[in-house]
Amino acid sequence: MRQNIVAGNWKMNKTLQEGVELAKELQNALQAKAPNCRVIIGTPFIHLSEVCKTVDQELIGVAAQNCADHESGAYTGEVSPEMVKSTGASYVILGHSERRAYYHEDNAILKTKVDLALKNGLTPIFCIGEVLEEREANKHFEVVKSQIEEALFHLSADDFKKIILAYEPVWAIGTGKTASPDQAQEIHAFIRKTLAEKYGQNVADEISILYGGSCKPSNAKELFANPDVDGGLIGGASLKADDFMGIIAAF
Ligand code: PEP
Repeated sequence: MRQNIVAGNWKMNKTLQEGVELAKELQNALQAKAPNCRVIIGTPFIHLSEVCKTVDQELIGVAAQNCADHESGAYTGEVSPEMVKSTGASYVILGHSERRAYYHEDNAILKTKVDLALKNGLTPIFCIGEVLEEREANKHFEVVKSQIEEALFHLSADDFKKIILAYEPVWAIGTGKTASPDQAQEIHAFIRKTLAEKYGQNVADEISILYGGSCKPSNAKELFANPDVDGGLIGGASLKADDFMGIIAAF
């Protein structure tokens, strides 16, 4: 059966030293109190190798926040999936709305990144979600469906089972606005139904679908209590060990 997961996305925050400190704090806290879910932290590229050496990855998985859509070569400033893997990281966040909005990553680019991540043994945490205007126009179902179809539905069932999905309504990311538990359940159930129509119910039931968007210790429990919400992708609240631990404790 699918895993419950709490994954942090540090975004462009923390120096290397601060990041290693936070990783150590989390490691100590989770050693003292074993979590009832899988815990993952998504760090900047330059932190990956040190953080991988700092944590026990049985306890805390390590994720990159992006990877290149090419295997190697003359792509100045880019980091390939193979390089990410070589740091010891096992996961990569792909399709985050900030990558889509600020770096123009579309579903075609993301499809290539997903393929290369899987080829290099990385587990994609694949983000989908609508912007406010799409939600207000009641288009959120079709938006997330096409994001999934265009970037992921070329995968075989065996490969699809390796994906973690994160539904993140863009209007809730970093805004302090959270989808209500009912709104989250409604669209997570829709996403699972969409997966079942393509790959069958058994595959759909194995996929972890995380919620992201201003999730914090005070609202995590009611969000995660929904049958189709299998945890969270956490931005701001993953930057402080106490807050992140508070969310982990919701399971
Ligand atoms: C995110 O960026 O993935 C996110 C969910 O951010 P926040 O928790 O800060 O809304």
